[in-house]
Amino acid sequence: MLANLVAVPPSAVTRQLRRRLGGIVRTDRQARWEASFDSSKLSYLPAAVIRPRKAADVGVVLALANRHRVPVTVRGRGTTLTGGAVPLRGGWVIDLTGLRRIRIDPEAGMAFVQAGATVAAVQAAAAAHGWFYPPDPSSKEYCTIGGNIACNAGGMHGGRYGVTRDYVLALKGFLPTGEWVEWGTATRKFSAGFNLRDLWIGSEGLLGVVTDAVLKLIPRPPARWTLLTAFADEVTALRAARALFAHRVQPAICEFLDRYSVQCAERATRSSVFPGQAGRPVILLELAGTTHEIDDQKAVLLAWARREATAFREARDRDEAEQLWAVRRKCSGAMFELGDAKLNEDVAVPMRQYERFARFLDRLRRSSGLPIPTFGHLADGNLHVNIMYHRADPAECRAAEAAVRRLMETVVALGGAISGEHGIGLAKTPFLRLQHRPAQVRAMLAVKNALDPRGILNPGKMFEVFEVWKHPRIDVHLPWDHK
Ligand SMILES: Cc1cc2nc3c(=O)[nH]c(=O)nc-3n(C[C@H](O)[C@H](O)[C@H](O)COP(=O)(O)OP(=O)(O)OC[C@H]3O[C@@H](n4cnc5c(N)ncnc54)[C@H](O)[C@@H]3O)c2cc1C
Repeated sequence: MLANLVAVPPSAVTRQLRRRLGGIVRTDRQARWEASFDSSKLSYLPAAVIRPRKAADVGVVLALANRHRVPVTVRGRGTTLTGGAVPLRGGWVIDLTGLRRIRIDPEAGMAFVQAGATVAAVQAAAAAHGWFYPPDPSSKEYCTIGGNIACNAGGMHGGRYGVTRDYVLALKGFLPTGEWVEWGTATRKFSAGFNLRDLWIGSEGLLGVVTDAVLKLIPRPPARWTLLTAFADEVTALRAARALFAHRVQPAICEFLDRYSVQCAERATRSSVFPGQAGRPVILLELAGTTHEIDDQKAVLLAWARREATAFREARDRDEAEQLWAVRRKCSGAMFELGDAKLNEDVAVPMRQYERFARFLDRLRRSSGLPIPTFGHLADGNLHVNIMYHRADPAECRAAEAAVRRLMETVVALGGAISGEHGIGLAKTPFLRLQHRPAQVRAMLAVKNALDPRGILNPGKMFEVFEVWKHPRIDVHLPWDHK
């Protein structure tokens, strides 16, 4: 891949940037190549990559870019699956992984973090003081807090604890013009003026660059208890989940894996999700809290499992539970055994529509002829629907495109969301207008134009239609890939 790259001489404005910032501005082939793609594996070369050593460097880059209308794409670790971190229009990439300081205030229960800190590092730092940072994306060993804030990332804990947005107290960073701003401060309450902190959360690097965040922590739950349940089929499993929530049980984790996801995870890890229950969909549940709280909910959960499940079993100990979550985290990558291309959707479906959605997926599998393993977080309706196909097979490509359109139309018709946690990026742009009326899109564009009048930040994303399935992907192995 590298051999095909042509070294582009830096333009006058890039040279000017380098004079200002020195060695943190990289124009070598390797640096540009590494910043050209994210987990979507779409690749567009930037002219330069800037790796700030301090927050102020970001302001310098943006001010100059704004003056000269240079496109700028911010990146954390590039784990996004939507193409959101790909520099579609070239220009400059700001790589924030060098800004990764973390400080915990153990009295206030707050974490002061720089945008490039990984989620796993924040969790570990909090845990060392007896605190808990709940957002738990499967990519947490790699992805950054900045990326999580930009995408409003979720994960397995969403139903009980909420998502990234629920833990952000304050943000600092730069407007696309290069001006420094602070939204909120290190207090648990803030009602002073428009809440532009929440506007930045989930804005996918289009409205500003986060350099620092103050995160809310909660006390670490002292005990956990894990239950595996298996069901006759997917419709029965999703119906049972609704029955569980009607009992007002709030598991910390409630993960559904359809039978196809179970098979993928088992083949990839050569271990069994639920021994003796091969070929069945499962729901994996975890309670968290004090032993007293767990005992109360455990009784309800076991009575429910006896009534609803084909089989159930408690995890023997913490090791077995952790092993289970590790297998669960592998299931997405493992799906590449079913095809070399994946349309990876993260829709959110209202709970009352669970069974209807499961029946729809059955029909979609039959009509498309494609494997569509699905798993997800049942406490918040966030289901990961994975349409697998072979890129070299034109009939499969057509079937995948038709299937993703039907999926999105159905999700919106059922009152759901085309994305529950990954965001729009490039991959969901064909469907943004299914979700939002013209007036809503105009309102979003008005905000974009107000904050980024020259349109330099992450251009081409969210609003312009980009059909990912029509664009080549690069063949590169990322650290979080299964194979
Ligand atoms: C194996 C795997 C599992 C995953 N599991 C989950 C999951 O469970 N839940 C979930 O929600 N997501 C998941 N994801 C998706 C991804 O990890 C998240 O979207 C994550 O938030 C991206 O973080 P990042 O640091 O990699 O950001 P990047 O991929 O580098 O960037 C993502 C977007 O954020 C913008 N951005 C990044 N940093 C900043 C910043 N400091 N300021 C402004 N904008 C910024 C970028 O421009 C881009 O638009 C998974 C991905 C993989 C590969």
